[in-house]
Amino acid sequence: MKLVYSNQQLFLVVNAKNILENAGIESQVRNEFIAGAAGDISPFDAWPELWVNEASFDKAQELLKMHESIQQTLWRCNECGEENTSAFELCWNCGKHSE
Ligand SMILES: [Zn+2]
Repeated sequence: MKLVYSNQQLFLVVNAKNILENAGIESQVRNEFIAGAAGDISPFDAWPELWVNEASFDKAQELLKMHESIQQTLWRCNECGEENTSAFELCWNCGKHSE
């Protein structure tokens, strides 16, 4: 499976899951309980995450990109030019850290 979306706000992750479900894409929320237990200030690795099957990844990402309500500011990776949401501190494509 691949990580397609992550946000500190669980409801946004659940929102994203619903968007994918409506499109017939199965997804899985991870870290939802860890984030709740950690309170408002969670370390990044404890953020709720949304995972999809590798085969659904491209379509899922396209769908989520179209829904601005769950997106935050985009930043463009200096290394590979890929667009990332601010939910990702590292470029999802090449792993380089945002400036
Ligand atoms: Zn990159």
